[in-house]
Amino acid sequence: MSIRFWILSLALLPFFPVAALGAASGQPAVDPAVLGRIRDVAMQDVWAYQHLAELTDEIGPRLSGSTGLEAAIVRIAAAMKEVGATVALQPTKVPHWERGVETADVVEFAGRSTGLNQHLHLAALGDSGATPANGLTARVLVVHSFEELSARAKDAQGKIVVFNMPFDQRLADNGYAGEAYGQAGEERFVGPSAASKLGAVATLVRSVGDAQYRLPHTGATEWDAGQTPMPAAALAAEDAQLLDRLAAAGPVSVHLTLTPRHLPDAESANVVAEWVGREHPEDVVVVGGHLDSWDLGTGAIDDGAGVMAAAGVIETLARLGLHPRRTIRFVAFTNEENGGRGGQAYFAAASKQPGKTVAAIECDLGAGRALGVQAAVNSNSMEKLKAVTQALSPIGATVLVRREGVVGSDIRPLQLSGVPGFAPLLDARHYFDYHHTAADTLDKVDPENLRSEVATLAVLAYYLAEMPEALARVTVKDEE
Ligand SMILES: [Zn+2]
Repeated sequence: MSIRFWILSLALLPFFPVAALGAASGQPAVDPAVLGRIRDVAMQDVWAYQHLAELTDEIGPRLSGSTGLEAAIVRIAAAMKEVGATVALQPTKVPHWERGVETADVVEFAGRSTGLNQHLHLAALGDSGATPANGLTARVLVVHSFEELSARAKDAQGKIVVFNMPFDQRLADNGYAGEAYGQAGEERFVGPSAASKLGAVATLVRSVGDAQYRLPHTGATEWDAGQTPMPAAALAAEDAQLLDRLAAAGPVSVHLTLTPRHLPDAESANVVAEWVGREHPEDVVVVGGHLDSWDLGTGAIDDGAGVMAAAGVIETLARLGLHPRRTIRFVAFTNEENGGRGGQAYFAAASKQPGKTVAAIECDLGAGRALGVQAAVNSNSMEKLKAVTQALSPIGATVLVRREGVVGSDIRPLQLSGVPGFAPLLDARHYFDYHHTAADTLDKVDPENLRSEVATLAVLAYYLAEMPEALARVTVKDEE
């Protein structure tokens, strides 16, 4: 508690009942009228959408190591300076992987007419290895679970292993899109590595998500340390099902060509923009999203919307001329998608700075309407956060959910070090229809929904930076 507040509290005590002072410590809570003004100004915001349109339409895809990502870093740094923030780049090296040729045809199957192949729609997974330039041909082994893969381990030798694990859209429809993604995503995250250990020659996974337009859904796959990346790609869900049907009828062979390249690490940077606190400038509330994107679409919902909504926090406070007690630090993280080096570089730098990170907010869940706030905090901190969802009730962002794990991959190192972590709760029912596909483009973003994200983040960030006493540190589980 600052001396100024201590004196003020004493002066007020004889005249007001303790309940009117908000926090149990007797300190005045954050003025709800100020939170209301932040919300209203954010709900008029055009800045975030305009900058998102420029990012996606004028720059486009922003995979680590690409010219697009470099251009985006320059552009967002300039935009934040223009808003009045103090801007710095935080350099880090990032993995540089480039997609190449990617084709696949089913060249053997029961009922095939001579010379007639079935063409498959697919996209290499990030960090996939390459086939020979003229491709490879192998029989396929279709599995539907890791248990089935284990049971048929001997059959995997020399084969193209195909994982056909569907995305459970029912979960997504009921507000559990992240859970559905986590379940179906296992085949992509670790399927290729597991198949490679069994002697498979390549892995094809069913696209994660419920897109019904025969679009492959890319994303990173993980190799064990020292494991040589094998050719690995995502099939459009329709094509995974086709292979499954054909394999049920008899032997199936696929001719597969993937020629991605692993290049030396590239130079990149986080963009860090500060809105300096009026009382404790050394203490920081982080609010960020990631600037890099996959290469198939233009990264509008993943994570253009999130990073611009987070940037919009400072733009909103600048328009109001409001500086909370502590510094609000916007971070446009680099390399979230295929390495996480931005989050690591940020944490390494923050650990060396004086002052402390009192909270970290990450916005990386698409461009759906804001429904509330997810908070990875101690249970006794939850009461203090009610003021945030109360301030957001006119826009319906009223749900306050407590999480026990990591709520954002870039803020993961901060959270594991004890920093309370936050993410907006967003309508993600259709996020995985487009996420990581060629259809992740600006038209999927409803400007009104984006404004609700800006408003939610701005009210939350301001509140966390303005609270008389920062929230208690917290131990979270290392899982999302
Ligand atoms: Zn993302």
